[in-house]
Amino acid sequence: MVLRLYNSLSRAKEDFAPLCAPQVGLYTCGPTVYNYQHVGNYRTYIFEDVLVRSLKLLGYAPNRVMNITDVGHLTSQGDEGEDKMEVGAAREGKTAWEIAQFYTDAFLADCRALNLLAPDTLCRATDHIQEQIALVRCLEAKGFVYKISDGLYFDTAKFPDYGKLMTRGHLEGLKSGARVEANAEKKHITDFALWKFSPAGSKRQMEWNSPWGKGFPGWHIECSAMAMRFLGETFDIHCGGIDHVPVHHTNEIAQSEGATGRPFARFWMHSEFLLMNQAKMAKSSGGFIKLSDLKDKGFSPLDYRYHCFTAHYRKQLDFTWETLEGSKTSRRRLRDAALALAGEPSQLNCAEYSSRFKEALSDDLNMPAAMAVVWDALKSDLPGGAKKAFLEEAEAVLALDLFKKDIEKTADPKVAKLLVARDDARKRKDFPQADRIRQEIEAAGYSVEDGKDGAKAIKK
Ligand code: AMP
Ligand code: ZN
Repeated sequence: MVLRLYNSLSRAKEDFAPLCAPQVGLYTCGPTVYNYQHVGNYRTYIFEDVLVRSLKLLGYAPNRVMNITDVGHLTSQGDEGEDKMEVGAAREGKTAWEIAQFYTDAFLADCRALNLLAPDTLCRATDHIQEQIALVRCLEAKGFVYKISDGLYFDTAKFPDYGKLMTRGHLEGLKSGARVEANAEKKHITDFALWKFSPAGSKRQMEWNSPWGKGFPGWHIECSAMAMRFLGETFDIHCGGIDHVPVHHTNEIAQSEGATGRPFARFWMHSEFLLMNQAKMAKSSGGFIKLSDLKDKGFSPLDYRYHCFTAHYRKQLDFTWETLEGSKTSRRRLRDAALALAGEPSQLNCAEYSSRFKEALSDDLNMPAAMAVVWDALKSDLPGGAKKAFLEEAEAVLALDLFKKDIEKTADPKVAKLLVARDDARKRKDFPQADRIRQEIEAAGYSVEDGKDGAKAIKK
């Protein structure tokens, strides 16, 4: 079975063959940790998780690197404005370092709740400043760099292939955006910062010495430096959200290929937006939804994971509470059906569904088609053991906890609060109160199970 992936570089589906099979070098742009990530961001991470899990199921050995952007991402795409980390620090009265740690931890907790596999390497930009400085020096030696009053810039006119990832629409969008926020000293609107100087008298918390003066790296250089540090000059796949095409990824290509003279990533894969009220869900618009908001409304993070499987990753997906409710119902029906399957798992007879499932994944990660195979298998007249074997295999990619009874433990916020109150009562040794709370939980349709990881409420 040939794995075909859509490559944003060629704007076509291509047969995928890694440089050094079965290994697959994979770089995925990570979060900027100045705030919580919203469910739109998680759509992209869920797509990347499906990619990693599918590669594994199809016999590859992915080696995934993800960065944490904890410096240098400015409030405007055009290298103007403030550093988002410093904005977060001012907003919350903490240091930029504390902000970075807090939101990195929050991000990693959300990833676990969504059953996202941990990357093989998770690297912070601030831990790799020297590699970034070395890359800028290399670009400087090759004549790609010029200096203006606020920093060092990449001269995009010196890189003949500049913008090969972009479409004409992207370039027009950049030009009209640049009229609003252009830095008059830049030679061309597409030129971008490699190293920015700390403004005189500024109270920046994150700054480093460099051959050009005290300052901090540009956002794009961090991804190039860390991708090459961990995966080499040329590697297999680079991923991110579709908004990264015209600026961040275009600039990563220019500075990496400018420095090495070799191709950077061979495949570029981008997921489309999660929309809310017909617009991209974004932190800047204020109206964004966090994973904890879903939990507060009685959804499990895995209901959202299921929801992301209802659209192909290259199609926009609307977020509404009604459609999420539909995904919650579907996932629970699927789980109830999986749990009700009788018999020992048996590979016999499930080969047809297994290969149809893999075919759907091999067709550019077509999750709606893969989910249709799952439902077909459940409705089929295969013996229970065969269905179980197939679903267990599919779970390697779905990761919807289909065989876990206790997934309801986070689903009902009222019950979750009662569990905490019961725990408190037990710690105070107020056992009559703990018993009363247990009865209340049971009246809500759950039974309480005490385990070494604490108490769980299991739907009866
Ligand atoms: P950020 O924390 O802003 O750097 O974004 C983290 C990741 O989420 C990037 O890969 C973005 O492209 C992606 N992203 C941002 N907004 C959305 C959205 N509304 N839908 C899907 N992905 C998004
Ligand atoms: Zn990046």
